[in-house]
Amino acid sequence: MVSFFPTPYPDELLYSVIARYHTRSGNRSFRQTDIDLFNYPSQQAAKVILSNNLDYLVNNFPIGSKQTKENLIQNHTLYPFYATFLTATEAWVVKDLMIKKVNSSLLQAARIAHTHTEDSRKFFRFCPLCLEKDTQIYGETYWHRINQTPGVLVCPIHATALHDSLVSLDAIGIHYHAASSENCPLGSNSTTYLDETLQKLLMFAKDIEWLVNSCYLPFQGMAWLRKQYQSYLTRQSFLKIYSKNKFTFNSHSFASHFLEFYGTEFLEKINPILIKKPETYLTNCLLACDVNPLIDRVMHLLLINFLVGSIKDFFSSNV
Ligand SMILES: [Zn+2]
Repeated sequence: MVSFFPTPYPDELLYSVIARYHTRSGNRSFRQTDIDLFNYPSQQAAKVILSNNLDYLVNNFPIGSKQTKENLIQNHTLYPFYATFLTATEAWVVKDLMIKKVNSSLLQAARIAHTHTEDSRKFFRFCPLCLEKDTQIYGETYWHRINQTPGVLVCPIHATALHDSLVSLDAIGIHYHAASSENCPLGSNSTTYLDETLQKLLMFAKDIEWLVNSCYLPFQGMAWLRKQYQSYLTRQSFLKIYSKNKFTFNSHSFASHFLEFYGTEFLEKINPILIKKPETYLTNCLLACDVNPLIDRVMHLLLINFLVGSIKDFFSSNV
């Protein structure tokens, strides 16, 4: 049992709480911190976004701690984001793996790529205004979960472009770096956007924030999603279905409408790979999403927003 464990701040990533524990513990190595908290040095790549062995962690908390696994998972990991687009059974498996000391791959169960391909993230991100506010209120800053969520490039609270910190997201080996003014320098690593792009990024960040803060919204699976796409594409005349296996999809027209709707700058920032071959990329996401073992959640959210008009309406109406 550990003698203390920091209380998580609002929307603080569990990784960040552990990093603050590491700093205060005086441990010389990250490995020692892992042994204190989890009883073994973990090497798993998902620890920044989806921690595991939470059963052990919570049971190891100081006497009197009211912290629960459920609260940590729902409010301090990216589980609510990654549960999106998973069926109830798939989401249950991911949560179960987070609670246990697992050997099987959590990333595989959550259908996440081992590299952060969903967007261009390479570093932990921070909002300069959140940093200032945290320091005033708490005397220190921390890694906010929403700012590390794929697709979020603008702080949904302050409408400010997020900055890259100096802490790499790559999870090679063990690391617990608490956010600080040293690794979150102001005035460098900043990105500026055109006003129109900033507004679109803000709306998208708010939609993602809504998803992350909603309780799990039951999802009927990727084959169901493909059928939904087919239905919207047909209604909007991008797709013509002749028989069960015979159809024509006007990928060129779809890609140009999609690019015009979001704008090149927005899409380049959100997904630099898409912009290189938009027709192929979008066709795969729309019509082959159920054969891909990985789920490109950010792209599906963009597609839903484009085709349906509202991410909230889509998820709320299919509960
Ligand atoms: Zn902020």
